[in-house]
Amino acid sequence: MELDLGHMGERSSFSFDENFEIEPVGGEPTPCRVRVDVEITKTGARYLLEAKVASIFRTGCGRCLETFECRIDTGFDIVFQGGEKVQIPDGAEEDDFIFLGSGEEYCFDLFPRVREAVLLDQPIRYLCSEDCRGICPGCGENLNVNECRCAKEGRDPRWGALKDVFDARQAGSEESREREE
Ligand SMILES: [Zn+2]
Ligand SMILES: [Zn+2]
Repeated sequence: MELDLGHMGERSSFSFDENFEIEPVGGEPTPCRVRVDVEITKTGARYLLEAKVASIFRTGCGRCLETFECRIDTGFDIVFQGGEKVQIPDGAEEDDFIFLGSGEEYCFDLFPRVREAVLLDQPIRYLCSEDCRGICPGCGENLNVNECRCAKEGRDPRWGALKDVFDARQAGSEESREREE
């Protein structure tokens, strides 16, 4: 989306859609649809751009591994300063305060900022729901859908989890042994 500030009034708003490929934390690259609502307010030689970004894509849950539809709602502000160069206000990032040289075109590509806003607003881990019950480490059953089969099969459901801890310890002690040698 190319922004043409030269043809903006005192206040203008518009919306646009974009698609890009996102690589979600812990997931495979997947198509992401974004809806961007932009509002621009002009005060003297300064334009304040406020963008709201709503994104939607599918990714796997970090607990139960099921694919689900994930939404990230985010946004960003940019100030475009025309005329004389001024001091960047306190608290403003250099990227968010752009000087418009007098001879230049007032064109700006918003898309990289839209993409960045979504990427920066990702959770540490994607969960299909806050109380996703995940997968039993013993029987591998998705506990959101089915009951754990461990008791029925005479297995201890904690065994899988304990085994992971044990394996990690083994790996750790092997490492320290290597370091000693
Ligand atoms: Zn889940
Ligand atoms: Zn189980």
